Amino acid sequence: MATLDGLPPLRDVIARHGLDARKALGQNFLLDLNLTQKIARTAGPLEGITVFEVGPGPGGLTRAILSLGAKKVIAVERDSRCLPALAEIEVHYPGRLEVIEGDALKTDFSQLAVGEPVRIIANLPYNVGTQLLLNWLIPGEWPPFWQSLTLMFQKEVGQRIVAREGDNHYGRLGVLCGWRTDARMAFDVPPQAFTPPPKVTSSVVHLTPKAAPLPCNVSALEKVTQAAFGQRRKMLRQSVKSLGGEALLAKAGIDPARRAETLSVEEFVSLANCLG
Ligand code: SAM
Repeated sequence: MATLDGLPPLRDVIARHGLDARKALGQNFLLDLNLTQKIARTAGPLEGITVFEVGPGPGGLTRAILSLGAKKVIAVERDSRCLPALAEIEVHYPGRLEVIEGDALKTDFSQLAVGEPVRIIANLPYNVGTQLLLNWLIPGEWPPFWQSLTLMFQKEVGQRIVAREGDNHYGRLGVLCGWRTDARMAFDVPPQAFTPPPKVTSSVVHLTPKAAPLPCNVSALEKVTQAAFGQRRKMLRQSVKSLGGEALLAKAGIDPARRAETLSVEEFVSLANCLG
C-alpha cells in the first residue's frame, strides 16, 4: 500500500532493510507520518530552508520534512544499515537529500551549509541529545548558524530546557537555554508512538535564538550555575563560596540568603559577569 508521499510504508522499509532497532544507538523509530509531519511543522515554514537532521534512521521524519517543501535535508546518521533505505528517499526527491554517515557529536554543523538559512529538526538519540543541544547552543558566535531547533527529548529533559526560576526542573540547562534562546515545549509524544516504545514520555521542544542575549562569558556562566545548582538546597552564600561567596553576591546585588532556583536567568548572568 502506498503512502501519501508515494513512498512505501515505513514498516515495510524497516522489514525490507532489516533495521531491527538497536538500543545502543538510541533507536526508537517513528512510523506515523502524521506525527512526523506534526514535528516538522513545529519548525515553521520550510520552503527555501536547508534542514539539518540528526539520526534519520529509516527516514520517517526526513520524509515529512521533504514533503513539507524544505529545499534540502542534510542528515547525519551513524548506523550504516540505514543508508540503503535513505537512498530510496534520495531517488524520490532528487538533489534534496544528502546523507552523511558519521557521528553527529563529531560533526561541525556550522560548516555544512554556510550562508544558507538553516533549521535543525531531529528525533534525537537520547544518549547524545543534551550534548548536541549544548554544541549548538554554545558556539563562539551569536546569532548562530541556525534559525531554530526543533528537537525530541525525553520529557524530563525537555522540562529542564524550558524551566525558569521557581520551577522544580530549573537548573544549568534552563539557565543556558534561557540566556540565549526562547524555548518552548511544543507537545508530548507517548511511548506507544515509537517502535520499539521507550520507557518514558517524550517531548518536542522548539528553540529560537534571541537576537541579542545579555553579554556574558559562557564559561563564567557555567561556573556559577554549576556551583549554585550543585548545592541547590543551600543558600547562595554557601553554594557559591568557592567563587567569592558573599563578596561576589554583594557585587551582583543578590541576597546571599536566596537559593539557586529563585534566581532569574538575568541574575545568573550578572553573577557570572561579576566573577573576577
Ligand atoms: N529519525 C528517526 C525517527 O524519527 O524514526 C530515528 C530516530 S532514533 C530516536 C535516533 C537515530 O539516531 C537512529 O537512527 C540512530 O542510529 C541515530 N544515531 C544514534 N547516535 C548517533 C550519532 N552519534 N550520530 C548520528 N546519528 C546517531
